[in-house]
Amino acid sequence: RTAARTRGLSKTYGSGETAVTALDSVDVDIREGRFTAVMGPSGSGKSTLMYCLAGLDTVTDGRVWIDDREITGLGDAELTRLRRDEIGFVFQSFNLLPTLTARENITLPMDIGGREPDPEWLDTVIDTLRLRDRLEHRPTQLSGGQQQRVACARALASRPKLVFADEPTGNLDSRSGLELLGFLRRAVDELGQTVVMVTHDPGAAAHADLVLYLADGRIVDEMPDPTAEAVL
Ligand code: ADP
Ligand code: ADP
Repeated sequence: RTAARTRGLSKTYGSGETAVTALDSVDVDIREGRFTAVMGPSGSGKSTLMYCLAGLDTVTDGRVWIDDREITGLGDAELTRLRRDEIGFVFQSFNLLPTLTARENITLPMDIGGREPDPEWLDTVIDTLRLRDRLEHRPTQLSGGQQQRVACARALASRPKLVFADEPTGNLDSRSGLELLGFLRRAVDELGQTVVMVTHDPGAAAHADLVLYLADGRIVDEMPDPTAEAVL
């Protein structure tokens, strides 16, 4: 089963002489219940791929599905609802609201969407991310690693099927980075979620089950090699 997939996905920014092809006919299958890393040099299209997969950006050509539902062609209202109900995002810049406590930040997307968190699930996420004794603190009272864990908890709070993380360790020291990768790993292994992480750090990608390599807007390699399984 795939949690998300694309066929012939192309994305061009701008037009005429300044047009940039960010993605060039990309086919990817994001496997359900797996941790997938997307690697490649700066400008290779990693963020664009993630944004198109998550319905945050429109495509120029091709098709995108989340579960078995095609999202290309959905209207803004439907895409907003889909993102709120089924997708969690961990941004590189944590995007926490400074006036809210950690707890309020964690439940904000659900509050906005008028949904009640499942208390048992929320407890699991909070304990897994070791945030129990920081829930009443505001972002400025938290370390970078703690803020990133709050951002991670916010992404997991609604128990989304799919979690996207854009360079989640980019702003963290190596210890906090390793912790965060451990938490994403547990979200997959213990909480059953599907994680897609964009990174340029091979050490971070080593925590994933699968690595997709992008170059110039194309998938140029995949590890482990899916065609190699037949020989094993
Ligand atoms: P990566 O995440 O691998 O660094 P991106 O997906 O951000 O790559 O960018 C892929 C290409 O698309 C780059 O050449 C980048 O300059 C271009 N690009 C990305 N976003 C925009 C945008 N909003 N407008 C114009 N060009 C963009
Ligand atoms: P607005 O439409 O005013 O931007 P949103 O509902 O998009 O409000 O988001 C409010 C806050 O919650 C933002 O900080 C955003 O980054 C965050 N957020 C929204 N949806 C999600 C999500 N699925 N996962 C994690 N954070 C989210």
